Amino acid sequence: MEGQKTSCRLPDTVVPVKYTLRYHDLDLDRCTFAGSVAIDCEVKSEVKAVELHALELWVTSAEAVVDGGSGGGKAGGVQTKLSTVRTEYDSKAQTVTLCFGEALPVGGIKLELKFEGSINDKLAGLYRSKYTGPDGETKTMAVTQFEATDARRAFPCWDEPAIKARFELEVLAPVDRRVVSNTPVMMSNEETAELPSGRKERRRRWRFAETPVMSTYLVALVIGEFDFVSAYNASGVLTTVYTPVGKAEQGRFALHVASKALEYYAETVFKVPYPLQKSDLLAIPDFAAGAMENWGCVTYREARLLVHEATSSTATKKAIARTVCHELAHQWFGNLVTMEWWDALWLNEGFARYMEFVAVDHIFPEWDIWSDFDSMVFPQAMALDSLVASHPIEVKVDNPDQINEIFDAISYAKGASVIRMLAGHLGVSEFMRGIHDYLVKHSYGNARSDDLWAALGNTTGKDVGTLMDTWTRKVGYPVLTLAEDGSTSQARFLAMAEDPTTKTAASTKGDDEGQGTVWPIPARVVWEGAGEGEELVVMLEGESGAEGGRKLREKVQELQAAGKWFKINAGQRGFFKVNYNEEGWTNLSRAMQSRAISPADRAGAVSDAFSLAAAGRASTGVALGLASKLRDDPDSLVRQTVVSSLLDLISLYSEETFFGKFQELVRSICLPMWESITWTAAEGEPQRVATLRPLLLRTLHLSGSAEVDEEALRRFDAYVNDRAGSAPPADLRYVILATAVGVRGDSAFRQVVEIYRTSDSGEEKRQCLSAIGKARDPALLSEAMDFILDSGEVRLQDAGLSLASLATSALGSKLVWTAFRERYVELHDRFSDTGFIWPMLVGSAVMGPRTPEHLTELEAFFNDAPKPVGAGERKWLQNFEKLRVQVAQLARDRNTVPKALS
Ligand SMILES: [Zn+2]
Repeated sequence: MEGQKTSCRLPDTVVPVKYTLRYHDLDLDRCTFAGSVAIDCEVKSEVKAVELHALELWVTSAEAVVDGGSGGGKAGGVQTKLSTVRTEYDSKAQTVTLCFGEALPVGGIKLELKFEGSINDKLAGLYRSKYTGPDGETKTMAVTQFEATDARRAFPCWDEPAIKARFELEVLAPVDRRVVSNTPVMMSNEETAELPSGRKERRRRWRFAETPVMSTYLVALVIGEFDFVSAYNASGVLTTVYTPVGKAEQGRFALHVASKALEYYAETVFKVPYPLQKSDLLAIPDFAAGAMENWGCVTYREARLLVHEATSSTATKKAIARTVCHELAHQWFGNLVTMEWWDALWLNEGFARYMEFVAVDHIFPEWDIWSDFDSMVFPQAMALDSLVASHPIEVKVDNPDQINEIFDAISYAKGASVIRMLAGHLGVSEFMRGIHDYLVKHSYGNARSDDLWAALGNTTGKDVGTLMDTWTRKVGYPVLTLAEDGSTSQARFLAMAEDPTTKTAASTKGDDEGQGTVWPIPARVVWEGAGEGEELVVMLEGESGAEGGRKLREKVQELQAAGKWFKINAGQRGFFKVNYNEEGWTNLSRAMQSRAISPADRAGAVSDAFSLAAAGRASTGVALGLASKLRDDPDSLVRQTVVSSLLDLISLYSEETFFGKFQELVRSICLPMWESITWTAAEGEPQRVATLRPLLLRTLHLSGSAEVDEEALRRFDAYVNDRAGSAPPADLRYVILATAVGVRGDSAFRQVVEIYRTSDSGEEKRQCLSAIGKARDPALLSEAMDFILDSGEVRLQDAGLSLASLATSALGSKLVWTAFRERYVELHDRFSDTGFIWPMLVGSAVMGPRTPEHLTELEAFFNDAPKPVGAGERKWLQNFEKLRVQVAQLARDRNTVPKALS
């Protein structure tokens, strides 16, 4: 495709070496900025035009400074200034082309540009975020969010990860603001500045140290008011957590985690020193993603950084610890060594998600955090990757919409899952040794997946590339099916098995359907009567006849003949599902009930059973039977898996005639669990119970458990009457609010809105937004939706999540869809530029109701949408397919589940 302009890649005729970037007029009231940039460039071949990225940015002057003397040496040579004859903008390609009257000679030149733009409200580029000042007035801070392709909104640049350069930044800011960037402050002086408009004002000039060679998407700038806490570590690196004014103490927890993680990565894991002198973490009130790993200047959503000891839940603390460890892993993996192009985004994100767990497990061993991987990350990846509308981990992307689309569970969760599988296969310490070599070899440069496989291959002597290629380049994952004779076969696991119509709308977008793919599966097997630590490890590479498959078959035949149980994928680390033959399931359920296999294996098997049922490969009745047998299982991971599976079905069956019977079954499984957990935490109870408790409560509420509702309402009333004195434990707050809105309706709805308005806890505010979406009265649900979208009281970053909560019920999904359809153009105009919010909004609009007629309506709408759905396209396809799967399951279960329940 060379020479053809199919992507937004820039020509490599001129490349930058260093940017000297100045913002000399940042107007936080009018939300505009003006700046200049001098870019030292290398001209590789003689050209008359220079093309670089710029979006909603106006270049007001451009000159090229060229050494006039022969030899091109900088010292002493005569410099000539060349002016542009024309400046061309291409808004589609997001570029500006500077056309000069004569050719720029090969060698070093300096481009001097002046530009203007706006501090936008799109949560991308240089954008504005509102906060309340100490005296109660609303103020504006300016923040950057450049990943993936938005540095071009803030200054003209070569905005591609592989075009690295050094940056030197200077900002003239209002005197009452603090400016933070990637590197330490070199100078910060107050002066009377003459602004370009001619007016004179007191300003503070901030100059930052020159950065190492780095990618544009990692450059950061924050201008606001902050308090902070900080600490030096043993290697002299200063870590600082910047919080809203007056909340410095809420930064302590993150400071603790960050300091520990930084040291752990540098000394123990990567064995490569932290590349910068300081490491900042900043809480930003308006933020699209969870956090952004800008080098040395990581920005976070407030909810992902601040911990208030009294009001933050366990789930929030865990999420914050994971996020901090994730972003810090990027400081090496991603920032020091960067992917060549966005098609390897998964390597960045999958690795960082994996490292979150490695580091958090090191810092908080008592949390048993890998169980969260088993109950959240792994199933999330499997669910999404079972759709035809999934995509391979490594996917070809060209334009910004496509790039923004792949910040999804495939890149993060499946990426992390296959990396964990690989690390397990190679041995974790060997794996980390390979990572060290990779980081050293490619420091300050770029790399591809293949470079990582080569480094790991060198360390371990194994052919890592061949093993990993199929997992990263093919969509989907296998289900290993066990035949009666003990032989196994593999095929792609699809959420909707054998459905000829699947290949219509959704699959036209699928990159590769994954049919016929043969995955190399590293499989571990444990069995009844095996010795301590004894297991069979085989590599299943082909359909039949290969060595691994033969060994497995022989073992299975021997065990089946003796009536013994066995579990394939022991430890549940392999990214595949197993469908046993009937005898295999029966024997295995015995091992599950007697707890002869590990909690991860029990949870894995029951989760496989439910998803095989959802796909129509097994019966839901069998999965429910298995769940019933696990009602006495004391392990929190197993309980969590069982309860989550039941919760999915509650939502699916809520309008069916057999729903009452089903609720009875759910209560019969969950009440025994609840009796051992109760409302109050027992002394020394495992950390995981703290996150299981609210899940169980919510499930009991939805399955009609009156006792639970009664107690929740009592606690709600106490809280409303005495906010300070009777606050519920943070872990239970959401369930209590949601139960009250669900049961009481109008009065509780208004009380929760009032809590939203008056709470100063970001976590509680978001819980209130989710809770009002749990109303059962259509008028209230409409009001909730208006409040989220139109009141101006809800931050953009919280809108997507709140609508998704509203759309989980049949009634709510209908309302969200109707509003979305009727207001499509307006919502599109408001949100489609915000890379993260728009897909969530599209996703919430495609969650129900689950009827065949609705599917037809959805398809008709999206095939002919008034404006292209853009970055929301993949989300629409995925949720539409999920909905089809649910409609199909409902049609099957309507016939079979009532029998299983009677
Ligand atoms: Zn990340």
